[in-house]
Amino acid sequence: MTLSATSNGLSASQGEAVRIDGKAIARSLTEDIRQKVDHLVQQGHGLPGLAVVLVGNDPASEVYVKNKALQTHRAGMRSFMHMMPESTSEAELLKLIADLNANPQIHGILVQLPLPKQLDPSVVTNAIDPAKDVDGLGEVNTGRLALGMTGGMVPCTPLGCLKLLQSVHTDMTGMHAVVVGASNLVGKPMAQLLLRENCTVSIAHIHTRNIQELTRQADILIVATGKAGLVRGDWIKPGATVIDVGITRVPTSGGKSRLVGDVVFKEACHVAGHITPVPGGVGPMTIACLLHNTFQAASQSFLAEE
Ligand code: NAD
Repeated sequence: MTLSATSNGLSASQGEAVRIDGKAIARSLTEDIRQKVDHLVQQGHGLPGLAVVLVGNDPASEVYVKNKALQTHRAGMRSFMHMMPESTSEAELLKLIADLNANPQIHGILVQLPLPKQLDPSVVTNAIDPAKDVDGLGEVNTGRLALGMTGGMVPCTPLGCLKLLQSVHTDMTGMHAVVVGASNLVGKPMAQLLLRENCTVSIAHIHTRNIQELTRQADILIVATGKAGLVRGDWIKPGATVIDVGITRVPTSGGKSRLVGDVVFKEACHVAGHITPVPGGVGPMTIACLLHNTFQAASQSFLAEE
């Protein structure tokens, strides 16, 4: 299969869906942020700073936070890593968050989830100053998004999906968007963002009946379930734009493994108009949007100082 790369992060081969290249779009977003950071510094402001807190030694989380630190540096911003032991108490973690909230060098705070059992993620997330809540998962930012307010922090993965959609559609008004998955992290904020774009939005989840009938009506189909290969080719409306958020590691022959999405790509790419691959679709956009939110938080803080 021959693919032709284009400047807007889209590529296609004959008779198949156009692939939305999340890597390329994320790279361009990160470069844009780096230039804006340079501009801030030229205006006499300090560097935006992102603090990432990791509690425990989950190997996947360690990889994620290291990657976040690397990308933060790439965007010209300061990265502060806080590694805490698995046995960390709620009081210890809340004390660290209070210190980070009060630290003027830090504009964004992210506590890597999942947390060890003794820590309540909702208590921890809501302890973060809403102005520094770059994951956008606290009650204040969730409420702002639900009320359609601008200027709040939007969760990074759905924001990344929206930017991928905007690379295809300049106007989504009146389109039927179906979101499969209703988590607080992805599905619900995604639905809110699509409403903001004037889409007609349906949300499906594990209890939805005749789900294929619904997904076949979707002009835009976002899938975030964590069920590898759930969405088959015949679930998709011809020409639809499909965003696959799911990431599951599956074993392959020879003791190796690979990442797959919630959509059967081989089938979907013969039906969809545009589609994201896994890996290389939504994943890179999540980190780029974290950097975007950190830059936004820093800019708002510098504006407030003036
Ligand atoms: P979650 O487990 O919190 O929620 C899953 C949702 O899918 C639930 O609403 C559930 O009702 C629904 N669901 C489950 N099985 C279903 C089925 N058979 N039919 C219809 N709906 C079903 O998961 P999450 O945190 O929202 O993550 C979903 C997936 O997205 C996971 O694979 C996760 O790894 C991935 N993810 C990727 C990124 C990224 O950066 N690419 C970021 C966040 C999550």
